[in-house]
Amino acid sequence: MEQVMEKELDKLIRLAELDGRIDGLQRELGKIPGIIEKQRDRYLETQELLEKAREDLAAMQKEHRKAEGDLDAHLEKVRKLNDQTSMVKTNKEYQTILGEIQNLKKEQDGYEERILELMEKSGEEEKKIAAVGEEVKKEKSAFDEEEAKLLAEGERLKGDLAVLEGDRGGILSGINGENLQLYTRVKGLRGAGVAEVRDEICLGCRVSVPPQKYADVIKSIEIQTCSHCQRILFFRQGGDPPKEAE
Ligand SMILES: [Zn+2]
Repeated sequence: MEQVMEKELDKLIRLAELDGRIDGLQRELGKIPGIIEKQRDRYLETQELLEKAREDLAAMQKEHRKAEGDLDAHLEKVRKLNDQTSMVKTNKEYQTILGEIQNLKKEQDGYEERILELMEKSGEEEKKIAAVGEEVKKEKSAFDEEEAKLLAEGERLKGDLAVLEGDRGGILSGINGENLQLYTRVKGLRGAGVAEVRDEICLGCRVSVPPQKYADVIKSIEIQTCSHCQRILFFRQGGDPPKEAE
């Protein structure tokens, strides 16, 4: 009986070890997509800056074309007024046209200044686009490299998981159904289905185990559970010796 019980308990302990490792690997595996997304977002932010700069440049170029058109129309007006001066009959008319031409000349300076300003701003924007473009290229290639590394890591974890799941399947079939049910229920509640007892303390919940139960756990008489946390208790030979022995 003791022999059988010991083997059953060994299997449950082994199952708990495997489940602990499986849970750990699944947690690691579960983190990977989030890490990839975070890094992708970082590089997409720079990509957005680049697109914004390109849009700004396009708007400046459009404004530049419009300003050139306005200037052309303006020059055409001046040219027409100049033509009129040769046809005027009175000095008064002539003076009026000259006055208009003077005013238009002043406006013309404004158009020309605006065009120069836009050319300067476009030049700066082009430099910015080149620099941010370089940045995007660098970040993208760093991201691609990091993503490939993380995906490979994910594949490695999946491989390890498959091995552990295989081992787990092999053990499950040998465990008594009732014990397995108990184990599964407590694991669902507490995260682990078994707990070591040392010095009359359940290491799962840190609550003391009564002396008789402690003695039974050491002797592996039937499956014993912690009355506080319900975990299946085990005593590790070679762990700290029980108090009475000290
Ligand atoms: Zn406990």
